[in-house]
Amino acid sequence: MGLPPLASGPHGPDALRPLLDTVLHALQTGTAARHGPLPPGGPDTVTARMTHAAGDILPDHGDPDALHTLVTALAEGAADPAHPLCAAHLHGPPLAVATAADLAAGALNPSLDSWDQAPAASALETLVTRALARETGATDALVTTGGTESNQLAALLARETHGPGLRLIHGANAHHSVPRAAWLLGLPEPVTVPAPAGTLDPAALDEALTHIPGPHLVIATAGTTDAGLIDPLPDIADLCTTHGARLHIDAAYGAGLLFSHRHRPKLAGLEAAHTIALDLHKLGWQPIAAGLLTVKNPDDLTALHHHTHYLNADDDTDAGLPDLLSRSPRTSRRPDILKIAVTLKTLGRTGLGTLVDEVCALAEKLAALIHDHPAYELHAPPTISTVLFRPTHATDHDVATLRRTLLTTGHAVLGRAHADGRLWLKATLLNPHTRPDDLATLLTLVEGHTPR
Ligand SMILES: *Cc1c(COP(=O)(O)O)cnc(C)c1O
Repeated sequence: MGLPPLASGPHGPDALRPLLDTVLHALQTGTAARHGPLPPGGPDTVTARMTHAAGDILPDHGDPDALHTLVTALAEGAADPAHPLCAAHLHGPPLAVATAADLAAGALNPSLDSWDQAPAASALETLVTRALARETGATDALVTTGGTESNQLAALLARETHGPGLRLIHGANAHHSVPRAAWLLGLPEPVTVPAPAGTLDPAALDEALTHIPGPHLVIATAGTTDAGLIDPLPDIADLCTTHGARLHIDAAYGAGLLFSHRHRPKLAGLEAAHTIALDLHKLGWQPIAAGLLTVKNPDDLTALHHHTHYLNADDDTDAGLPDLLSRSPRTSRRPDILKIAVTLKTLGRTGLGTLVDEVCALAEKLAALIHDHPAYELHAPPTISTVLFRPTHATDHDVATLRRTLLTTGHAVLGRAHADGRLWLKATLLNPHTRPDDLATLLTLVEGHTPR
């Protein structure tokens, strides 16, 4: 056997074609073998099957069937977000066109840490990040691995502007990555403001901004992970202006509403933020990762300036080679922008808006079914595409057990969330192909597995 073929270069496409056939066949075989949204049997069964399929993972002599074997096993053992009964997390089904674009990114393998590794990819990244930044009222945007990295970078940029005494103030409803960012950056312990109805309480924020010494970075959420709620952004923005606080809005989930004429008004106030986290692997239907941090004042980005002799030497930059290293704390960096660009241009505002409208309408439909069903209690009408509910008369223990039973039987994938002091089942609807009948099936399944 000769040397294995490469993915790019003049022979790349010919080498890839039969391998793609293998991958597509394996995806089909594995998915058909699974039958449902998740493999039945729980962790022991799935691990045993994967261990068997993997066999000797680093054999002395290679196995030409490894691609088919492992992709089949992965598909069979997958939690498939394209299945209508897989609706636990902000874990969406990627669009076929985005995944196809990502294949090209993998084949060409541009690395966005220097222009000489990514000439066209870096130009595309500039075009797309500027366009998406404008969409949120900002001027520039950095590509990140997701909301977690965006929140960390937002805190870092704020610290570099305001100093190491920067105090983060966030709602009790904030994503767990927010206090973690403070820990990671060695900032003082963040201040947690109550969010009694699931959204940050502006009166309590006012209090905190008045009594706790600054400088402050207020972090609001547009689309909470647990319930899809949006903090009162205009009130929070006003308070930040009054108290001279910097504002970051974690819109990792909610920012996708910008694509929809109908739902966009829910994000009023977003444009006031200094920085915004936005995840297109949520309401954007991208394969992970597709995160962005938009930045209103481009001067903030000077904090990330970083020089190394081999990637962005001064004389190279003076001669006109774009300095890419200073646009991320990472060095080697995938062109996640390609799949995003292809998706935006293929679907347009209308196409993306339709997807957003679909999933929001599905959430309303599910909420209506739950509301009208005597066996269930609905937490609240949905703001985005998350619905919290629980069987009437169930205990928290029942809810937790029910969720795990659905997982281990492989019948349905639902999440869990605490609200109003109780545990709820969480359905996060991100699959625009889900039909109302599927929602009825979901409720019937849950009812059938409810302990009584
Ligand atoms: C998903 C989410 C995050 C984390 O994003 P990752 O892409 O998983 O890093 C942060 N904040 C909110 C509100 C989210 O929904």
